[in-house]
Amino acid sequence: MKVLVAVKRVVDYNVKVRVKADGSGVDIANVKMSMNPFDEIAVEEAVRLKEAGKASEIIVVSMGVKQCEETLRTALAMGADRAILVETETELQPLAVAKLLKEIAAKEAPQLMILGKQAIDDDANQTGQMVAALLGWGQGTFASKVDLAAETVNVTREIDGGLETVKLALPAVVTTDLRLNEPRYVKLPNIMAAKKKPLEKVSPADLGVDVTPRLTTLKVAEPAKRSAGIKVASAAELVAKLKNEAKVL
Ligand code: AMP
Repeated sequence: MKVLVAVKRVVDYNVKVRVKADGSGVDIANVKMSMNPFDEIAVEEAVRLKEAGKASEIIVVSMGVKQCEETLRTALAMGADRAILVETETELQPLAVAKLLKEIAAKEAPQLMILGKQAIDDDANQTGQMVAALLGWGQGTFASKVDLAAETVNVTREIDGGLETVKLALPAVVTTDLRLNEPRYVKLPNIMAAKKKPLEKVSPADLGVDVTPRLTTLKVAEPAKRSAGIKVASAAELVAKLKNEAKVL
């Protein structure tokens, strides 16, 4: 069974991003970039499925600038078999990514597609749902457990106040939540070996997809700064301030 995993190159989660002076976006020049953490979990899950003898081949796909190749090499070092880079300088929005994934799925015919539940840069949480809809496949989003059988997959989902398990007919789309697994540490020999694994490059035009953005970002702003706190002398003073100044009582 082929498994397709989508991996996005994003600003590393440890970086404190700065909003550009003109408010048009965040500054990513000279900033550390890494694989989206939810996508690392997606790759890890696919590798575990292969190790368990349930998956036969893992194909990782990334879309974006040339440097996404580094992200794909990391996924190959984690255990993916081959990679596809859809190279473009155009800003890709979730619908465009979903359309590209649909075309790749048509070529590769995977039985399972695993994505992160969201990319930590745009926080869209849309691509998995969109590609499932475009393909007409079932979707198990926010997975904390994936139980793959020959023709179905049971996905345990993290929902408000508990867990829900859904059974999907294959082929299906799964998006990962934080507790699904803990991605492995990539060892140096695997990084070296990953350099020799196949990496195919295509363009959105090769796949016949128009990736022109549909949405325009009007403004990006820093969160409001927290004002300094004060000390009160007594509980009575606290209650008075909450009542008269903060007006929350
Ligand atoms: P989003 O809908 O943007 O929050 O992204 C959800 C998931 O879709 C990510 O965790 C990735 O698995 C996948 N994805 C989004 N954008 C890309 C991209 N440019 N290349 C590869 N995968 C992507």
